[in-house]
Amino acid sequence: MIDLEALCAERGLRITDQRRTIAKVLSESDDHPDVEKLHARASAVDPKISIATVYRTVRLFEEAGILDRHDFGDGRARYEAAPEAHHDHLIDVETGKVVEFVDPELEALQRQIAEKLGYRLVDHRMELYAVRLDREEKN
Ligand SMILES: [Zn+2]
Repeated sequence: MIDLEALCAERGLRITDQRRTIAKVLSESDDHPDVEKLHARASAVDPKISIATVYRTVRLFEEAGILDRHDFGDGRARYEAAPEAHHDHLIDVETGKVVEFVDPELEALQRQIAEKLGYRLVDHRMELYAVRLDREEKN
């Protein structure tokens, strides 16, 4: 689990009670929640937290580089604490479930492609959109 509150302190971000609550909810979430889901979880802790505060706070955390924003194809921004080690995502298009994976061969292949094109790879995003094989067979 990534301690976002500690990262806030490291980056010199002013931490309020509401930001602390949102940071804690984000740190404890491993399902890439959107703002509405985050708001539901944060207001379970502190009912005074508004959705506008959640929006402002995730933007602030994102700008500070401690939060990653994803777009998994449904038009909603989804968030996760910026991981220490890189991973990619597979999105189940039927359930919206997000599976994290790392594949060393894929990482190497992407570097090779960039080099072939005359570049040194510095970052990438990989999203696989998929349906479960065992569900497909039943249809
Ligand atoms: Zn992830």
